[in-house]
Amino acid sequence: MHRYCPLLLFLLVTCAWAADDWSRHGFDAAEQRFSPLDDIHTGNVQRLGLTWAFPTGNTRGMEATPIVVDGVMYVTTAWSRVYALDAATGRTLWHFDPMVAGEKGRDACCDVVNRGVAVNGEQVFLGALDGRLIALNRRTGAVNWSVQTTNTNKPYTITGAPRVVRNMVIIGNGGAEFGVRGYFGAYEAATGKLLWRFYTVPSEDRQADAAQPSLAQARATWPDDALWESGLGGTVWDAFAYDAESNILYAGVGNASQYNRAVRSPGGGDNLYVASILAIDPSTGRLLWHYQTTPADSWDYTATQHMILAELGWLGERRKVLMQAPKNGFFYVLDRITGELLAADKYVHVNWASHVDLETGRPVETEIADWSSTQRMISPAIVGGHNWHPMAFSPLTGLVYIPTIHTTYPFTADPNFRFDPRTMNTGEDFPRMVREVPAVVPRFCSPTRLTAWDPKARRVRWEVPFTSGVSAGVLATAGGLVFQGTTEGELVAYSADEGERLWGQDVSVGIMAPPVTYRVAGEQYVAVVAGIGGSQGGHNTVMRNENPGHVFAFKLGGSATPPATRPRARQVQTPDFEALSETELTRGETLYAQHCLRCHGLSAQSSGLYPDLRYSAAEVHAIWPQIVLDGVFAARGMASFADSLDARDVRAIHGYVIREAVRTQGFMHRAAQAIGNSVCIPAEWLAD
Ligand code: CA
Repeated sequence: MHRYCPLLLFLLVTCAWAADDWSRHGFDAAEQRFSPLDDIHTGNVQRLGLTWAFPTGNTRGMEATPIVVDGVMYVTTAWSRVYALDAATGRTLWHFDPMVAGEKGRDACCDVVNRGVAVNGEQVFLGALDGRLIALNRRTGAVNWSVQTTNTNKPYTITGAPRVVRNMVIIGNGGAEFGVRGYFGAYEAATGKLLWRFYTVPSEDRQADAAQPSLAQARATWPDDALWESGLGGTVWDAFAYDAESNILYAGVGNASQYNRAVRSPGGGDNLYVASILAIDPSTGRLLWHYQTTPADSWDYTATQHMILAELGWLGERRKVLMQAPKNGFFYVLDRITGELLAADKYVHVNWASHVDLETGRPVETEIADWSSTQRMISPAIVGGHNWHPMAFSPLTGLVYIPTIHTTYPFTADPNFRFDPRTMNTGEDFPRMVREVPAVVPRFCSPTRLTAWDPKARRVRWEVPFTSGVSAGVLATAGGLVFQGTTEGELVAYSADEGERLWGQDVSVGIMAPPVTYRVAGEQYVAVVAGIGGSQGGHNTVMRNENPGHVFAFKLGGSATPPATRPRARQVQTPDFEALSETELTRGETLYAQHCLRCHGLSAQSSGLYPDLRYSAAEVHAIWPQIVLDGVFAARGMASFADSLDARDVRAIHGYVIREAVRTQGFMHRAAQAIGNSVCIPAEWLAD
């Protein structure tokens, strides 16, 4: 047993049998992402070096937390692929590809990412992008069982990691932006049998909902003329935590669908349980209590962000708390047994609410909050003050290390909104948003930071600023270290108490995923999955190389060479193209904003994750209609848009892209500044 363990009684059990492993998504069910390993510490981290690199053969976003059990690493990549690797050498033991159809990529709001597997006993559990929950044999990768957890006729996706609670596998789903009804469920680990399902929002069928008390309670917070066809959202796409002692499962619920509440919920109402933290009895699936962070969410302010369970001294007593930094910009501390709100404080710049009233538990909205009839610049942006990138908590420093995002965003309502099941239904007018975006001068620009938050003092203790708009997950260790990757492709170690940079190694592939640490044969490793993408990654300005996904592992004295990567290509090829009228080009611009912008859109700042269409190769220009209408690149994730666009539309878009290729300071450049999810906040906003 190593020297840290005796210091903290609550870690004793962990240390005795599993401290070497990273056996669960957030290290343990409390999801602190704090490892008691301390062989690597502030005094020797300078000797840390790359020891192996595993190329994933995949260029899309990488968000997985590797699970390490008994010297074997189980890790996922984009497209829900699983690899079992020797955790000491990176050698492949087996791999499993669920063969998710390329078309499914169109239903993924934020890239075809996967955040990892769960391992329990002899099984590995995977949530696949197409809604399957799959149990694999841990030794061989063979499929034990597979169940479809979603309606395949709806645009549900799974990107989150399953969690194992007792003999159950818990899994949610995503898809709110396209129009689905959120839920999560429990499946018997041995067989895949559905044990219970919890819907987070009501249905139009009031009678059916009345049978379930939680849904009856929720129904009272929605009007009869709610936008039922949008499913109402409330997807549980990432966060769960479990208190084994109290047998309480916590679930974080996502945003409402569509965003604009004036259209979604014309009669008002809090719209339970969107943007809420739910406490559930996992034996029955019944609701114990709920706390809604953002009543009547109108800003994509999900509360699906990572939740941490801890014990804190609070006004003279020990309290069992749950901590979350959801997108809405407030850091919450709740008593996790009763649901009592203990604290809610701004951890980034927030202008949609002045404060949270601790008596009522409700945020007090400002006049800026309502964008239903006027374009508003609102902070945080739709990416939130903190997105999926996991934060970490060190019981040694008492600090929570949050990958924060410091942005604002021009919310612009679409007065002609009609629900369309084939596309994003956020209720925003993208073309108008881009044309009318206010001139926000980036005089102060530090879009992301590593923020050390003191939950007891309720303030920031230290911050490290970055120029990238893409965050990265965090690991804290008993070695007094905090690890985080960068968009530029470095893994960096900071001192946990003061945020001093102590070590970094350039691996030249951008990192978003959270690092983990583990020990094999007495040697401690730090590992991280690299590859930029996701909701922010397609838009970043900093990534300098093409994006070959890798798993990287480091140890003291490691001396492996990072992979050589290619710089991002930048060559405009302009094909011969019949000139289009100004009207057609403008129509192409609008269609582009509606259908293409979300993935390809931020061209001038595009990462190369999704092709920047202005730099398309001649061969791509030659088969443009076949790509867009016939789906010839479907296997690569570019599905057919024949259900939304016709040949004339495609010509208009193509003509517009070619014009932009020639004239790079045009619309798409402005789009990049407007919707880059990293519009800089003017310095004066940060003065308060
Ligand atoms: Ca969302």
